[in-house]
Amino acid sequence: MTAAPQTAITPDLLALPRENTGLPSIYGMTREQMREALIARGIAEKQAKMRVSQIWAWVYHWGVTDFEAMTNIAKPLRAMLATEFSLARPEIVTKQVSADGTRKYLLRIEGGHEVETVYIPEENRGTLCVSSQVGCTLTCSFCHTGTQRLVRNLTPAEIVGQILVARDDLGEWPIPGTPKDETRLLSNLVLMGMGEPLYNFENVRDAMLIAMDHEGISLSRRRITLSTSGVVPLIERAGEEIRTMLAISLHATTDPVRDRLVPINKKWNLEELMQACRDYPRLSNSERITFEYVMLKGVNDSDAAAKRLVKLLDGIPSKVNLIPFNPWPGAPYERSEWDRIEAFADIIHRAGYASPIRTPRGEDIMAACGQLKSESERVKKVRVKERA
Ligand code: SAH
Ligand code: SF4
Repeated sequence: MTAAPQTAITPDLLALPRENTGLPSIYGMTREQMREALIARGIAEKQAKMRVSQIWAWVYHWGVTDFEAMTNIAKPLRAMLATEFSLARPEIVTKQVSADGTRKYLLRIEGGHEVETVYIPEENRGTLCVSSQVGCTLTCSFCHTGTQRLVRNLTPAEIVGQILVARDDLGEWPIPGTPKDETRLLSNLVLMGMGEPLYNFENVRDAMLIAMDHEGISLSRRRITLSTSGVVPLIERAGEEIRTMLAISLHATTDPVRDRLVPINKKWNLEELMQACRDYPRLSNSERITFEYVMLKGVNDSDAAAKRLVKLLDGIPSKVNLIPFNPWPGAPYERSEWDRIEAFADIIHRAGYASPIRTPRGEDIMAACGQLKSESERVKKVRVKERA
């Protein structure tokens, strides 16, 4: 065996993305996709389902990152798996912890791109806010991500990978031989990080199927919320194929204001959006739609706006999440005053809708709603000198 060429470890080299193995990631495959992939690699059809269950238990229950650890799988098969599939996680570039316990991870994915993921601990639950795209094609004028052009869609493996990385960091994998602990630090998922999830429909769907699968990450679909800015033609399909809870980034009650805040409104206006909500599959009092409403001083926070909002919601089982605007450098808006937000909430509440005001979390580390942005728009061309 020849020794590997010696290369000096320079900061530049350390900053390089992990070498792309080119192997398909285990994390991106639904159970059926993995079964087919195993059969295609010579595993007998009648064994394939059992092998998938074994691999999934190692990966999603025990959190292993090495095929060698899969001790109930024969050694030659483990070796074959290692040459055919990857178990690499997205790499944590930086991790910041807020004074309130919120954790923000900057993750590096294939191609050297970067995305952010935020973990928000609460009293009885922990919510992971995952990204679906690097950047966003949309340009909502109050959103920091909206100032970053779309770089690319995340793959299912990269979306699932965000959950696994958070579990690694939270130290949440069980230790063999110790009593089973049913409490989960990471109990809820929101697709509210960078990107518009419905513009990456298939990948988000497959990732959520893995997150919900009882042999996979096993989160109940009621603990997962997909937030959309209003991609009307895909809302019904999301209800049928993804089946998570739905949140709509409403933010305005008239078309001219919404055109300005959420420009996708010029394509599908309020009337079309509200109709799509009425048609959302399984809509009921126990499965309400959440309407997100960012509170922008002097823009959308009047009593009249609150009353119009109540009218818009008529007949839709819903709740309203009021989000105090989170500022970012150069943002053209200010947060509404606290008593204004409370007065607005009150009008909605009196009309019979829950209207919690979302406490900003992780503001000191720019981890709050709408503050996420990565540097990936700058095309990184770190050239490595040809190795001799
Ligand atoms: N693209 C999707 C999901 C990501 S944004 C969507 O738009 O729904 C998650 C939520 O944060 C959305 O409701 C979004 O409108 C809101 N948001 C964006 N920028 C914000 C800011 N600066 N302050 C408060 N909320 C913001
Ligand atoms: Fe994109 Fe959502 Fe931000 Fe709008 S609010 S720019 S859709 S991430």
